[in-house]
Amino acid sequence: MDIALINENYPWIFTAVFFLLGACVGSFLNVCILRLPKGESIISPPSHCACGKPIKFYDNIPILSWLLLRGKARCCGRRISPRYFAVELLTAALFAFAWASNAPQTAAAGMVFISIMIFCAFVDIDTMMLPDFATIGGTATGAILSAMLPELHDIHLEEYPFAVSAVASLICSCAGILVGSGMLYWIRLLGQTVFRREAMGEGDVILIGCIGAFCGWQGALFAIFGGSLIGSLIMIPIFAITRLLKTDKAKKSKLAESENPEEIEGAIPFGPWLALGGILYFLFFREITDSYFQNFTAIFF
Ligand SMILES: [Zn+2]
Repeated sequence: MDIALINENYPWIFTAVFFLLGACVGSFLNVCILRLPKGESIISPPSHCACGKPIKFYDNIPILSWLLLRGKARCCGRRISPRYFAVELLTAALFAFAWASNAPQTAAAGMVFISIMIFCAFVDIDTMMLPDFATIGGTATGAILSAMLPELHDIHLEEYPFAVSAVASLICSCAGILVGSGMLYWIRLLGQTVFRREAMGEGDVILIGCIGAFCGWQGALFAIFGGSLIGSLIMIPIFAITRLLKTDKAKKSKLAESENPEEIEGAIPFGPWLALGGILYFLFFREITDSYFQNFTAIFF
């Protein structure tokens, strides 16, 4: 039977397949997030528990094993962080949605993009660093995929040879890299001058370049402003509450006063919000953002 025919008649089969694929990729991303920043190999040693015992394959099934084991290791009963489960479920859900809401090639590129974003977001949460191989490598991957898949930047020039579309798409990708990184570079510089402290790192500037490479300049701008907005809406209440609790504690112990408040405040990574903004743009807000920018630029041109 023809694959296209199956997809037409039973679209949920492929959505389910990509959900499973996403769960496996999520499981692999967990290993990468844990090991790559420490410079460890992702192949050997094979998955093992914190107690040192190897994890059996049937206890290493993405999403399911964590649920079946109720978050506790079979060998020693140690707690398994729900984050492993969350990363697997998140990747699975995003892969399935990317497949269901895009043309197959765009969906495939989207899955690569989603994987890079999830990796960067969680590594940034853990280490406050964005590794160059992921951000710079991701930017290069985005540019290459753009040249191969002009649909990624909504370029449909059927009447011309493919090379024309490829070049046009690559230009969109490069515009995304330059607008995103350039914009964030200046915001960072301005922030350092006005507030005299580092609000974001160089890694964030490269990460937004990667988002721009996949999503074009519209996606890069969406990720910067959308990501900051969502980040503020979520983090400001959390800050307010922790600060209230802190002053409560500080009254009780004078030791807390000697702590440097900047150290606590400076400890929010920006990368995860940019990554979230990038994914939201790619999967949900592409059309509405692009048409908004189109209206906006129509005023001037
Ligand atoms: Zn164990």
